[in-house]
Amino acid sequence: MPERPNILFIMADDHAVNATSCYGSDINDTPNIDRIGDEGVRFENSFVTNSICAPSRATILTGKHSHLNGVKSFSDFDRDQQHVGKLLQEAGYKTAVIGKWHLQTKPSGFDYFKLLPGQGRYENPRFKEKGEEWQDGEEGGKEYEGYVTDLITDFSLDWIDRQADSSEPFFLMCHHKAPHRPWVPDEEHEDLYSKEEIHQPENFNDNYENRASAAAAAKMRIVEDLTERDLKGKPPPDLSGEELHNWKYQRYIKDYLRCVASIDDNVGRILDYLKERNLDDNTIVIYTSDQGFFLGEHGWFDKRFMYEESLQAPLIVRYPNEIAAGSVVDEISLNIDFAPTFLDFAGTDIPNDMQGHSLRPLLRGDTPEDWRDDFYYRYWLHLADHGVYAHYGLRTKRYKLIYYYAEALGTEGAIDEPKDPEWELFDLKKDPLEMNNVFDDPEYSEKVRELKEKLNRAKREAKDYE
Ligand code: CA
Repeated sequence: MPERPNILFIMADDHAVNATSCYGSDINDTPNIDRIGDEGVRFENSFVTNSICAPSRATILTGKHSHLNGVKSFSDFDRDQQHVGKLLQEAGYKTAVIGKWHLQTKPSGFDYFKLLPGQGRYENPRFKEKGEEWQDGEEGGKEYEGYVTDLITDFSLDWIDRQADSSEPFFLMCHHKAPHRPWVPDEEHEDLYSKEEIHQPENFNDNYENRASAAAAAKMRIVEDLTERDLKGKPPPDLSGEELHNWKYQRYIKDYLRCVASIDDNVGRILDYLKERNLDDNTIVIYTSDQGFFLGEHGWFDKRFMYEESLQAPLIVRYPNEIAAGSVVDEISLNIDFAPTFLDFAGTDIPNDMQGHSLRPLLRGDTPEDWRDDFYYRYWLHLADHGVYAHYGLRTKRYKLIYYYAEALGTEGAIDEPKDPEWELFDLKKDPLEMNNVFDDPEYSEKVRELKEKLNRAKREAKDYE
């Protein structure tokens, strides 16, 4: 039995806390994911530093913000740079990544990989396996019969099984494709929720008043922007108005939740397997998502915005040697913290240029005195998919300051370009749904001044000088 713990990092793609029952979801149940938290810890304030798929993955690997790891949008990951896979491999871990990769270039630092090309398919997906000829991007791979979430789990368990006789601990990144668009459920779950109506979030009919112009300009509305492919067909012709809107919401949310249900079942398979093989005590099991997702809040699907539903990701961790069952952490954790945390558990040095901090003290129930009480966020893809404006900002425990900096004015394809840079301030204690921008409210003028200073400081500390 190795002395250092195995690390099993299970990550979904676009799984929101509002569809996770241990975070209080009232629209679905995730009993297996919840089990990790019941026997371990749940982070209540886990956030990402750039809410989009490929950048989040690069951030998790490197422990650095997007502008330092080179993946601000969909640029190729520089495989020669330092990252946690390489460092754990050097420290004597067996390393593997299985499932969604989305970083284009061939992985370095992993003893084994079996990866979806690009976004990958839900049904009968192709996988590119280590040892076979590699093609960057969407190309290449061999087709496998079955459903993507089951297959990624099968391949992960197969790989763990092959480590059974190893004297070295393992590090496995098990990266699901689901529940990413276009939300295709498997046969086992396709009838789930078919006889019930799922209630809409209370701000489903948001009119985007009292916000900067970015919210109204974004093209991620359930009632307008879902395609027939997303909805798996045309709406019944006799529906209109609220009925039609609700029909679209039901189609969307049910397929999304069906994909989540399959992930939850497969998390259960992994937990059962670890227990059966007596690996459950010496394996740190992490469950998270590459970012959050809108599930009808503000009338939206998708992510990108610094608003809560997109900014927050579930984070639950089980490791009975160090984590008290059923514990909860309220401190702010970020996706830049994963790499330092893994290196800490591996007992190896955390490089100074990693920008995150090890979560290990928090996992044990100790909060370091100098733990962060705010953080810096930035989304760069101005007016790319879904027409979201580029922005950066600061979130504290209570407030959120967002700056839409409008530097790409004139980009083609923009319908509602911001005329000037715009600001938003939300008082999350009074306005948790972020419906009322108080940036220009005289009552908050002192707070605005203070938060702007903090934002400038946080941006400099993050070494973002642009
Ligand atoms: Ca994602």
